[in-house]
Amino acid sequence: MRILLVEDEQDLVAQLVRNLSAVGFVVDHAGKIAEAEAAAQGGRHSLIILDRRLPDGDGLEAIPRLRAAQPGVPILVLTALDSVAARVIGLDRGADDYLVKPFAMDELLARIRAALRRPGGGPQPPLRCGALTFDLMERCLRAHGEPVVLARRELALMEALLQRQGRVVVRDTLMDAIYSYDDEVTPNAFDVLVYRLRRRMAELGAGVDILTMRGLGIMIRATDQPCATDD
Ligand code: CA
Repeated sequence: MRILLVEDEQDLVAQLVRNLSAVGFVVDHAGKIAEAEAAAQGGRHSLIILDRRLPDGDGLEAIPRLRAAQPGVPILVLTALDSVAARVIGLDRGADDYLVKPFAMDELLARIRAALRRPGGGPQPPLRCGALTFDLMERCLRAHGEPVVLARRELALMEALLQRQGRVVVRDTLMDAIYSYDDEVTPNAFDVLVYRLRRRMAELGAGVDILTMRGLGIMIRATDQPCATDD
């Protein structure tokens, strides 16, 4: 999942990118409202974290345009403005949640999980394929019920593949799911990533095939289920 982080305090940005990446989110960073609106045009974010005091204005003013670019995206406002009135204004302007600085990283992660839950529903069921399960909320991949530790990009790739299992996923879609705008991607880095993930799944006896369809993309499917399912 990709998160758009709109924040201008460099220390906090570094801390947030580190912590969000560690649990497998891909983070695009914007330091200004204008940059945030440009980044949102891609329409690929699962969540937006939005600071209020930004160099080019109050983050709240960007909410309508961010929502127009990405309808339905949850917006979590992060700010040092902690009066009741400030919080009320934030929620009235369409923020889904409001967290006051300084905050505990665990609380932010819990609020992100809450924001990502389907509206009105309980937690999302884990994705399953072969002997693998992937809990989207916990950000945890398991093989035969045992947690599997993967590098963050391997985890992001696995998530993107499992969400579309049984279907060929085009390379650009996977690259979007794995790399942020700021990442420098060497030409064969992606192929190496796929190779490593495939080898790791084989070592684990995960019961999945990761197939490269030359010129088309990549697909994951359960080894014992060669017929594609559509969901
Ligand atoms: Ca700020």
